[in-house]
Formats: sequence, structure tokens, C-alpha cells
Amino acid sequence: MEPPLDRSTTWPYIDGDPGPFHYARNAHPVGVEAERALGELEGGDALLFSSGMGAETALVLALLSPGSTIALSEDAYYGTGVLFGELERWGLQHVLFDQTGPPPPGADLVWIEAPSNPLLTMPDFEAAVAHPGLVVCDATAATPVHLHPLELGCDIVLHSATKYLAGHHDVLLGAVVCKNAEHAARLHELRTRTGIVAAPDAAWLLVRGLKTLEVRVSRQSQTARILAERLEEHASVRKVRYPGFGALLSFDTADGASARRVETATTLIVNATSLGGVQSTIETRHRWEGDRVPEGLVRLSVGLEPADRLWLDLADALEQA
Ligand code: PLP
Repeated sequence: MEPPLDRSTTWPYIDGDPGPFHYARNAHPVGVEAERALGELEGGDALLFSSGMGAETALVLALLSPGSTIALSEDAYYGTGVLFGELERWGLQHVLFDQTGPPPPGADLVWIEAPSNPLLTMPDFEAAVAHPGLVVCDATAATPVHLHPLELGCDIVLHSATKYLAGHHDVLLGAVVCKNAEHAARLHELRTRTGIVAAPDAAWLLVRGLKTLEVRVSRQSQTARILAERLEEHASVRKVRYPGFGALLSFDTADGASARRVETATTLIVNATSLGGVQSTIETRHRWEGDRVPEGLVRLSVGLEPADRLWLDLADALEQA
């Protein structure tokens, strides 16, 4: 049944020595249970962090060194590039590349995203895993329902578990799953040192979220496919970006002003940031990402509402485009 939610930060020593749980910054029972469940889904050793960005920070600090270079997909979540820019002061370099082709030679780590948020491109996995560097795939938008990057040859898969894995817009959480136990051990060590850890309540919500992951994401993806097809046909839509699976899509309206009118006109779909919840959310991305994305781009995260009701809402909003 449900794992107990043990919020202890410390546990009694066993015969005078620390047991498997002794201080919560190192490990706590519900965190270990959530990691076991996610590790099983992805086929590797999972570790939780306090957010997706916390997971990214821990990953590069643990596995790279000053002077290391990351080849970063130019389509990757904009916050990832911002983070790596922040870490430049600490000697971390990054170069951008087009993930639909091979990564540049010489990088220590290759960072791809499947599919990318919000441009929805897919990486060339064969080209990425042929690179001699470590290969990390941010599979937040794909989820293990649609993709298993470790099986495709990646070394590490990363999730903003804030999104589909937890699934209800009510917990901030990140996860890294490693193929190699040494990477996992190094990440665990750095996590304990830095304290970029997930709280027990957050881990408990992940355990619960994972139990419905398959049904949620399958249904959300089915609805997204229907909406993508209808958007393709709509006169006010210039372009639909949808990789054919998953519950995230984006579409381009004529310009920034029409995109803003659309995002503020929906009534069922909430005009808010983030993605991956059971409630649909919509927003223009230019406000956050600037010229990386077209001004008319609108991102839609499809939730569990009925497809016809979502389409009615979107079609009404598109009247304002
Ligand atoms: N990776 C992707 C693809 C994301 O969409 C996000 C957040 O939007 C993150 C990482 C960062 O995750 P978090 O917001 O949980 O820190």
C-alpha cells in the first residue's frame, strides 16, 4: 500500500552505529522508495533532488570539473543554458549544437532533450551516443511512458519530476537516473554534501504520481494528438510543433500580439507557466525566452480534460488571434 510518510531528520543508531537511515540529508525511507520505483521504470539507479534545476546543478558539479565543456542542444529548456552560463564563472564551458545532428567533437558531456521544450525537436540518439563524452538526456516531456533513453545508449536520464512524473502541479522535484552505479554513487555523495535533496513529502507525492503515470500520460498524449491535428487545420495557426507522441505541443500564431490574445482568452485551459499536470496550461514563451522562440509561439500542456472541451476552448480563443 502507500509507504509511510516518515518526516524524521534523524534515526537512532543501531548498536551504537549509523544504520541505513541516520540523517535525512543523506537518505530517508520514502525518498529511497520513490527512487526504487523510478529506477525500475527507467532501468537504472535513480536519485531525487529538490527540483529539476537542482538535479541539473548536482549532475554537472558531480561529474564535471572546471574547464569541462558541455555540448548543449540549442533547443534544450532555456533554464538549462541559463544555468550553464551562471556556472561559467566556475570554469564550466558550454557550446550549443543542433540536436537533430551529431554533437561537436571534444565535449566532455553531451546534453540532449527529448522532445525539447518548447520547440519539440527530437535528438538524433544514434549520433549522440556515438560521441565519446557522457550523454545526458532530459526526458521530462517524453516520460518513461514514451521513451527509455538508457536503453538507447544514453548514460544518464534527467527529469523535472515537477512535471509529468508527479503530475499535479503541486510539487517541485528533480530526478537523475544513471546507468552506471559509480555515477550514481558520486551524485549521491555530492547531494549529501550540498544538501540539494528532496523532502519526504515531495518524494511521497512522487510515489503516488508514478502509480498513475501510465494512464495519465497515455490519455494526455491521445488528447494532444487530436488537438495537434485540429490545430494543423486551423486558419489562424501558422505552424504546429508536435513530435507525434507526448502531451506537450506548441503552435505559432501570426505574431506576439495574437499569441497573447489567445493565451488570455482560454477559460478551461489555465494561462500559466509549467507543464505536465492533469490540468491543461497555456502560455506564450517569448516572454521568458526572448528571441530563442518566435513571438507568436504558444505552448500548450495538455491535461486530462476531455478532448472536445479542450478543442472548444482553444477554437474560441483562436477567434481572438
Ligand atoms: N527540464 C525541462 C525540460 C523543464 O521543462 C524544466 C522546467 O520547466 C526543467 C528541466 C527544470 O525543472 P524544475 O522547474 O523542476 O526545476
